[in-house]
Amino acid sequence: MSGGPSVGFVSLGCPKAASDAELILTRLRAEGYGTVPAYAAADLVIVNTCGFIDAAVTESLEAIGEALAENGKVIVTGCLGARKDLIWAAHPKVLAVTGPHATEEVMTVVHHYLPPPHDPLAHLVPPQGVRLTPGHFAYLKISEGCNHRCSFCVIPALRGPLVSRPVGEVLGEAERLVEAGVKELLLVSQDTSAYGVDAKYRTGFWGGRPVKTRLKELCAALSGFGVWVRLHYVYPYPAVDDLIPLMAEGKILPYLDVPFQHANPRILAAMRRPAAAEDMLERIEGWRRDCPEITLRSTFITGFPGETEAEFQELLDFLMAAQLDRVGAFAYSPMEGAPANALPGLPSEEEREDRRRRLMEAQAEISAKKLARKIGSEMTVLVDAVDEEGVMARGKGDAPEVDGLVCLDGFFAAEPGDFLRVKIIDADTHDLYAQIAEDGDRAT
Ligand code: SF4
Repeated sequence: MSGGPSVGFVSLGCPKAASDAELILTRLRAEGYGTVPAYAAADLVIVNTCGFIDAAVTESLEAIGEALAENGKVIVTGCLGARKDLIWAAHPKVLAVTGPHATEEVMTVVHHYLPPPHDPLAHLVPPQGVRLTPGHFAYLKISEGCNHRCSFCVIPALRGPLVSRPVGEVLGEAERLVEAGVKELLLVSQDTSAYGVDAKYRTGFWGGRPVKTRLKELCAALSGFGVWVRLHYVYPYPAVDDLIPLMAEGKILPYLDVPFQHANPRILAAMRRPAAAEDMLERIEGWRRDCPEITLRSTFITGFPGETEAEFQELLDFLMAAQLDRVGAFAYSPMEGAPANALPGLPSEEEREDRRRRLMEAQAEISAKKLARKIGSEMTVLVDAVDEEGVMARGKGDAPEVDGLVCLDGFFAAEPGDFLRVKIIDADTHDLYAQIAEDGDRAT
């Protein structure tokens, strides 16, 4: 016994269930929880169930009932947990029900009802982990790897197929970050919109509530933390359309970073990317219709192997038609091991770079016009820094490090992480200039 909070553990079933139990017990011990053999001495009880045959179901339900009667605080996990309705019907007072192989979900529920004890060694690392970003925004990685095979990319070969983090673990990290003062969460991964595909969108747990391992449900849950939630690297799947209502309702930031990479169908096919340009334009129109406030960011590759001048011109035409808010462009650069290297017709280095420059010039004009239209409007900004010239902040349409700034020259009465209500008074190609709005300087 550790002298910390104590967990009772009842384990039923086969060796696989025992292995799940070992994982949970290991985590409990590593985090400083004690484990006790008696219900009365436990602060809560975990029942690891079996549902293989009817007799095992009966035994599991009886064990849950006994734990509830003896202790009252019960988390159910294991195979019978997959039949939640059955458990909730028999024992509506259990704190949470998770399926098998659910260490993270179980730990999330344990943390919620029985916060981990203070461990000076464990707490050498802050609860939100070591972060490289300033304290008021943080990147939240939701998955690793990628199931696509874009021909210019070596990430799937390096990092393997998509593996989504359990939704309860992601939400737990988000909660710790927000408690540590983070005001903006930036969801990142190789392919954010694919979140949960590998897990077949299984239902995880957060705070005892079921949450699907899917981007829409994750975003809806994150919106409950009351901070800005921004999405990066959203591959243009049809399911992306489902996120727009969350943006229109103000639950997540009206900001979509969708790397289109090109607009010509032949080049997109050679890149092994989805969608034709007409479809993209229609979808962009739909996103703007459903959420007029939306800021669209994208990235493009110029000088892909085989790209002709006419095909590049098609990309420029697309850019003019799409009127994206933010654009990044890269001249194609052969990555060792990328299948695209074997394609014929690589434009010269100068051509690739020249096309990148022309694309960015075209976008600079679009950007300047779009930003100029914001002069006179009011917006909420998040302060990034204060220096000798004043405050540097960002609006909902500006991701840190890649997009523009909202500068309040001569205003110093703010700190990083503050929200301010400002009025836009000027604009240039990429940045806005503002002063505090008349109706007050603090906002949420
Ligand atoms: S470019 Fe992105 S979507 Fe394509 S394979 Fe690489 S990581 Fe996956």
